[in-house]
Amino acid sequence: KERDPEQREFHQAVQEVVETVKPVLDRNMEYRQQAVLKRITEPERVIMFRVPWMDDDGQVQVNRGFRVEMNSALGPYKGGLRFHPSVNLGIIKFLAFEQVFKNSLTTLAMGGGKGGSDFNPKGKSDGEVMRFCQSFMAELYRHIGPNTDVPAGDIGVGAREIGYLFGMYKKLKNEFTGVLTGKSLAWGGSLIRPEATGYGNVYFAAEMLATRGQTMEGKTCLVSGSGNVAQFTTEKILQLGGKVVTLSDSSGYIYDEAGITKEKLDYVKQLKNIQRGRIAEYAKQYPEAVYTPVDANQDANPIWAHKADCAMPCATQNEINKQDAAHLVAGGVFLVSEGANMPSTPEAIDILLDNGLLYAPGKAANAGGVAVSGLEMAQNSMRLSWPREEVDARLKHIMKSIHKTCLDAASEYGAGQNYLVGANIAGFTKVVNAMLDQGLV
Ligand code: NDP
Repeated sequence: KERDPEQREFHQAVQEVVETVKPVLDRNMEYRQQAVLKRITEPERVIMFRVPWMDDDGQVQVNRGFRVEMNSALGPYKGGLRFHPSVNLGIIKFLAFEQVFKNSLTTLAMGGGKGGSDFNPKGKSDGEVMRFCQSFMAELYRHIGPNTDVPAGDIGVGAREIGYLFGMYKKLKNEFTGVLTGKSLAWGGSLIRPEATGYGNVYFAAEMLATRGQTMEGKTCLVSGSGNVAQFTTEKILQLGGKVVTLSDSSGYIYDEAGITKEKLDYVKQLKNIQRGRIAEYAKQYPEAVYTPVDANQDANPIWAHKADCAMPCATQNEINKQDAAHLVAGGVFLVSEGANMPSTPEAIDILLDNGLLYAPGKAANAGGVAVSGLEMAQNSMRLSWPREEVDARLKHIMKSIHKTCLDAASEYGAGQNYLVGANIAGFTKVVNAMLDQGLV
């Protein structure tokens, strides 16, 4: 904190892990002697670079690029790229730190990293996005590789951006390898990768419900965001017989009391992925829905104040604060499964846990995305592709296993059904043991 006081999100992520792994450090003196906390919180490598590109008016623009290679104890660095104006080093470090534990939980051999840029793809033409991606990769390519560091998508980086990035990497290296995941099916992508984070999130929620003898059937859910994770979280909830009544973007949210049907979800996919429009359009297309724009003067987000059973935040970090958490409790929500990374503030988490909610932290609940990225890497190495059913079955199996791992670790340390404690302890122990095996490097 003293060295980098401005990196608030990173400190928040570290604090949460440090508080929950204290009992592990107390049980194993070697961890303290070996200064594992100091080592695990310092990235192995941070790359920051200039990304110059030309806009459609012929003006030169300059953005900042990042790749944080956090930890390679378990495998090549793995984690997405985020293109959003809010991106800074602290945010990328928080995401990379979370990624290390998440990847550890997946059971696959992946270290953790994250990258991105403060570039805003919103309102940019395809040509501008392509020139930006090419310039970004013109530097990044020398730091990554299929056995070194394998980036993927995140906010603002979807199939289009992965395509442009991959094309430039291939041109510069003159080799066709699995250096990025989230690729299109025709050139090395995996079936189920687009769906994986959202589907995995709901598989995890279903496992939590099963511990109370319940299923998703008939549950009313609040979902935030309307991008990749929100869309496929909604799709899987519908498939399992649940009802989704909200979606949002950074301008506002819609509440559709009747529920977002498959047809309405298809419209959202078209609106967001093809037209790159705003969620406000939904209420014009379906007048039974109510659109509420963001009000920066309010200290609570009204999306979380609706009556429901489950909440799946799938937009961005710190989107549920303590007031929002209190509203969730008051509205009858008894399960929160985080599709986004760190969407709940520490105070919000305390309220959810104090009120006995089933709460799944993002590093467990949204690990399905990186898990299927790991499966994409495996398929690329073998130069073959598995059928949809096989990848989906593996995803389901991995989510079940993460759920069990969290519960086992929580119970070993007397933390009951606290998934946050379980995820942190299980993820941490595996990475730290691997680091100690590999010596002081
Ligand atoms: P997308 O870019 O596809 O969608 C992001 C959604 O969140 C959009 O609806 C966006 O609205 C909204 N959003 C973004 N920033 C803000 C903000 N500051 N305030 C309000 N709304 C915002 O990203 P993804 O769906 O891929 O990612 C969503 C979350 O899931 C992120 O936290 C990401 O780290 C996490 N995640 C993603 C994985 C993946 O496989 N894609 C894997 C694991 C976690 P708008 O269109 O207005 O920007």
